[in-house]
Amino acid sequence: MILLNTINQQIIKETNRARILKLIREKKEITIKDIAKELGTSIPTVISKVNELIEIGIIKEGGVAESSGGRKPVLIRFVPESRLSFGINISPKRISIALMNLDAKILVEKSTEYNASCSFDKILSITKEIIESIIIENKIDRNKILGIGFSLPGIVDEENLILENAPNINVKGFDFGPYEKFFGFPIYIENEANVAAIGESELGISSHYNNMVFVSITEGIGTGIIIQNTLYKSTNKRAGEFGHMRITDDHIKCNCGRTGCWEMYASETALLKKYNDKATTKVSTVSQLISRIEEKDPIACEVFNDYIRYLAVGIENIILTLSPEKIIIGGKISKYHNLYEKNLVEYINRESILYTIEESIIGYSLLKGRASILGAGLLPVYQLIRTGATTL
Ligand SMILES: [Zn+2]
Repeated sequence: MILLNTINQQIIKETNRARILKLIREKKEITIKDIAKELGTSIPTVISKVNELIEIGIIKEGGVAESSGGRKPVLIRFVPESRLSFGINISPKRISIALMNLDAKILVEKSTEYNASCSFDKILSITKEIIESIIIENKIDRNKILGIGFSLPGIVDEENLILENAPNINVKGFDFGPYEKFFGFPIYIENEANVAAIGESELGISSHYNNMVFVSITEGIGTGIIIQNTLYKSTNKRAGEFGHMRITDDHIKCNCGRTGCWEMYASETALLKKYNDKATTKVSTVSQLISRIEEKDPIACEVFNDYIRYLAVGIENIILTLSPEKIIIGGKISKYHNLYEKNLVEYINRESILYTIEESIIGYSLLKGRASILGAGLLPVYQLIRTGATTL
C-alpha cells in the first residue's frame, strides 16, 4: 500500500499536449482521428495541440493513411531529429558522452579516461570540453539541445540535483545546480543503474515487462528497480542498493565502510582481483579473463565458478525481495552469458525451497554496455514528453 502510494505521488499529471506528443512518439505516425479516439479527447482539442507541436517542429504532417471512403486522412509524424540530447556516463575511470536524437539514436559518441586524482570539478570541466568539441565539430544548432543527462555511480537526489554519495569516485553532497550555467543547458542527474534500467525498459529486451530489476555489473554493482513501469527510488532516493547487501561473514572491506557487501564478490573488480591474487600472470579486463577460461586455465575456471555462485546469491535475494518479472544483467559480463547462464540458474534454484525459477526470468542486456548512457540521454527527452513543453 505504502509502495503504491509512493509511486502514485511520483506520477506527474499529464497535459493534453503531453499525452498527444507521447502517443505520436510511440506510434511514429497516426491520424488526428485516431489520436482523439485513443486518448478520448475531442477532435478540435487534438487539432489545436497538434498545431502547437507542429509549430515547434517536434511533429509534422506527412503522407496519408488508407481511407475507408472519402478523402484520405493526413498522417501526423514524430520528428526524432527535431531535438537532441546529451547522455553522459561518469564511471570511476572513464567519462563517456553521447549525443542522441529523441529516439535515443546515438549520433556522436566520445569517451576518455581520467586520472584517479582528478577532482569532480575537473571531471566536469573535461566533460564540458568534450561536449563543446562535439557541438563545434558537428555544427550542431545549440537551440536544438534539450539538455544533458548524467549517469552517476552513487546515490542521487534528482529533484534537487545533488549527488549525495558516490564512494567509488569519492564524492559526497555535490550540487549540480550551479553547473547548469557552466554547461549552458538544463541538467538532469540519476544513478547509473537507474538510468540503465530506463534505457533497457525503453530500448532493450525488457521493454515488455512492467516489473523488472536491472543489475549493472561494473566496477561495483548497482541495481535499478522498475515497479509498475515506474522507477522506484523510495522517498529518500536510496532504494536499490543491493550492491551493498551483506551476503557473507567474510571481512573483505567495501568502499561503503561495511564488510561482506555483494559487490565485493560479484562485481567486475572483484572477479579480476580474485583471479589476479591467485594467478602468476595477471589480467586487466574481463575479456582477457574469459579468454583464460576458454583456454581451460584451471585457476580462471575455479575463480569464475565461485564468482557465479556469489552472483547467484545476490540475484536470489533480489528475487525473494521483489519477485520481478525479469532481471536483466548488464555490464561486460553479460556479453559472455553463454558461458554461465545454466550454472547461474542452477545455483539459484539449488538453495531455494520456496520455488524454482525459470531460466527465462534472467535476461542479458543487448545494449552493449550502453544502457546507462542511453538512459541518461533519455532524461531530458522524458522531461519533454512529460510536459510537452520546450523552450523553443
Ligand atoms: Zn558496501
